[in-house]
Amino acid sequence: MKRLLLATRNAHKAREIQEILGPEWKLPDLTAYPEISEIVESGKSFEENAKLKAIAVSKELPGLIIADDSGLEVEALGAAPGIYSARYAGKNATDKENVEKLLSELARAGAKTHQRKARFRCVIALARAGKLLATFNGAVEGTIVDRPCGSHGFGYDPIFVPNGFEQTFAELPAEVKNRISHRAKAIRALAAKLAALKPSD
Ligand code: IMP
Repeated sequence: MKRLLLATRNAHKAREIQEILGPEWKLPDLTAYPEISEIVESGKSFEENAKLKAIAVSKELPGLIIADDSGLEVEALGAAPGIYSARYAGKNATDKENVEKLLSELARAGAKTHQRKARFRCVIALARAGKLLATFNGAVEGTIVDRPCGSHGFGYDPIFVPNGFEQTFAELPAEVKNRISHRAKAIRALAAKLAALKPSD
């Protein structure tokens, strides 16, 4: 069985990555390694944060390690919350608090429907033994709706409608999100690289 260690304790990300890669992959995450301390996301971009998480964990644990850094960029908010998506409403903020803050910031900015363009971005970093092997990018464009709708997914899914659809990521079936999402695109690029990776790489 193919194995990758996910440098995350976010159960939602881990579940989506498992669904995208499929059952032939064994994907333990950091919940199995409580001795690994929280990695401070001190980078200034998704790429920097993904790299620092993957490299830090690969210095502690053997094998191939991947880290996902992701978030939402809203045009009318100058690409906020971006890398601060998880902590937009404050440290340890809940998804609901982050969504409420985003909607109130958009209302404050007076953003009309046509100014509600947004994009989810994901960068996956692949590392082994303290060395970065590659990074992979994915993005999905869409629109922010006025009110949260739907109960699937996590984070900002209830307010994000991907282009070409009329429902939010939280209303669409998980199979649809996992086919078109920022994370699906980055993980598919990773899977292509892994298929070509030699043990000496
Ligand atoms: P990270 O753990 O620093 O990468 O923060 C990721 C944050 O971005 C999450 O906590 C969510 O708020 C948001 N995010 C990333 N990907 C998604 C997604 O697929 N759906 C909804 N929100 C997401």
